[in-house]
Amino acid sequence: MNFSKTFLSACFGIVAIGACAANPQVIAHRGYWKADGSAQNSIRSLVKADSIGCYGSEFDVWATADGAIVVNHDATINGITIQTSPASIVMPQGLHNGETISTLQKYLDTAKGLKTRIILEMKEHADKAKEEQVVKDIVALIAARGLEDRTEYITFSKEGLFNFIKYAPKGTPVFYLSGDMTPAELKAAGAAGLDYSIGAMRKHPEWFKQAHDLGLKVNVWTVNKEGDMKWCIEKGADFITTNEPELLQSILK
Ligand code: MG
Repeated sequence: MNFSKTFLSACFGIVAIGACAANPQVIAHRGYWKADGSAQNSIRSLVKADSIGCYGSEFDVWATADGAIVVNHDATINGITIQTSPASIVMPQGLHNGETISTLQKYLDTAKGLKTRIILEMKEHADKAKEEQVVKDIVALIAARGLEDRTEYITFSKEGLFNFIKYAPKGTPVFYLSGDMTPAELKAAGAAGLDYSIGAMRKHPEWFKQAHDLGLKVNVWTVNKEGDMKWCIEKGADFITTNEPELLQSILK
């Protein structure tokens, strides 16, 4: 075989490998909040993530002092600490786009009419007994709306990870966010996989293959730069969570 034939066959091999690797799914981080009229964790961000065909829309939940589950990223909203304040104080609080903070119920009622998957992050609560009850309440709210097959749970809380695995229907994907468990440890725990930061995965690129060899999935957050997106795609990430879902979609095309 002459040089040019060897070169061409090597190129074809690379193209074939590329074509075989499945594209990662796109998850909008805190919804598609960069869209017009949107805000992080707003109802509109969920609707906008769905409107551009995201596989999933991620959002964060906290429980108020009296057990209402609300959608917000930070522990506080407008200076009010959600975990230690009653719903009567928390619920009137406004988001940047003019919506008020949403209950999980209202969020799910909207999600019910959409197609995008529900990537629900339960935030780590200080009171672990309360946190266990929050997991049970979340699972019940999802079940009441028949959304079990469209929901995936993620959390930084190790107790939360074990509790979602315990209380959600068998087979519900549960991912861990903290980056301090190996793929083998997550497999043993019964998790669906790892949902780790781009920094954690850059430090442990071997975790992509280790996870896949164990039958686990890999999600990477929050991947906003083109170079990081391409690296995750090359490494075979199953999901990429991003603030720039349309940029990622254009790269995947
Ligand atoms: Mg989150």
